[in-house]
Amino acid sequence: MSATTPIHTSVSFDLPTGRQCGHLAIPYSHNLGGWANLRVPICVISNGPGPTVLVLAGNHGDEYPGQVAIGKLWRETQAEQVAGRLILIPTLSPPAAKAGTRLSPLDGRNFNRCFPGDPNGTPSEILAHYLTTVLFPLSDIVIDLHTGGRSMNFVPCAHMHLVPDQKQREAMIAATEAFLTDITFLYTDIAGTGLLPAEAERQGKIVITTELGGGEAVLASVHRLCQSGLRNVLRHCGVLRGEVEQRKRPARWVQALSREDYLFAPESGLYENCVELGEDVQRGAVLGQVHFLEQPSRAPIPVLAHADGILIANRAPSLVGQGDCVACLAHDSAPRRLP
Ligand SMILES: [Zn+2]
Repeated sequence: MSATTPIHTSVSFDLPTGRQCGHLAIPYSHNLGGWANLRVPICVISNGPGPTVLVLAGNHGDEYPGQVAIGKLWRETQAEQVAGRLILIPTLSPPAAKAGTRLSPLDGRNFNRCFPGDPNGTPSEILAHYLTTVLFPLSDIVIDLHTGGRSMNFVPCAHMHLVPDQKQREAMIAATEAFLTDITFLYTDIAGTGLLPAEAERQGKIVITTELGGGEAVLASVHRLCQSGLRNVLRHCGVLRGEVEQRKRPARWVQALSREDYLFAPESGLYENCVELGEDVQRGAVLGQVHFLEQPSRAPIPVLAHADGILIANRAPSLVGQGDCVACLAHDSAPRRLP
């Protein structure tokens, strides 16, 4: 364990076999709790030799399918079903999940911008530092389950960064395809640094991430996809015993690797989505438009497709502020042939 983390944990990562359920305790003082600790539930299931897989959700509080899926794994997985070590954290940010927010109400931080973290920082920064210095070094594979949260809707997809190391990239492509989503997506970071997957990738880990829908509601089919996809990836990685389900048809890989592929509201107003999620569009298509509720006579401003592509994500709430991302347009891709 890192000498500098103030986090106390009630589980051991060194037990050769068995199931342990406990928590990470992050010191956090508040007005009615001078010696309080924020508890983050964690489960470690170990069984002999094999890979260590870290499975995470609730990085953003308002993204729930992964939290439900990991909770089910927690309750249903016995040590004899595992080969290696499974570390489960269903909800990385319990205060944000309970509040239904992207940012933690404790410190206002987006957990996915806190890496590599700071042992002397806020609760989110302390936990990010613990992942960076304790949990990632223990792990071979890191899975971080997301959705678009309340702000965006995604075509349910597994996605990944195009990491420069070819061996790592090839393993990530295969694991991403094992999630069994119809569409698999290469994305880039257009809104800041300090992401959890980027730090795990920097440490050479095989990283699998998702964007499984979004908005407030979760379809039953998306919950099912998250749960079955996660288990299949775990079997693919060899940490969960059982037969790997093969894809019925090849994944459709798409990419949004240019900043132009991410479209933003030009003004504040009321956003109208004009294209269904997952629809293929041609250059110049009106993806949506911003209306002005205080000036109904004013013509709405369109948001246009800059190229042919598929609408992989769009705005969930109708109200937009200038600069909010309202659409992501992706293009067919062949990641095994990319430099
Ligand atoms: Zn997220």
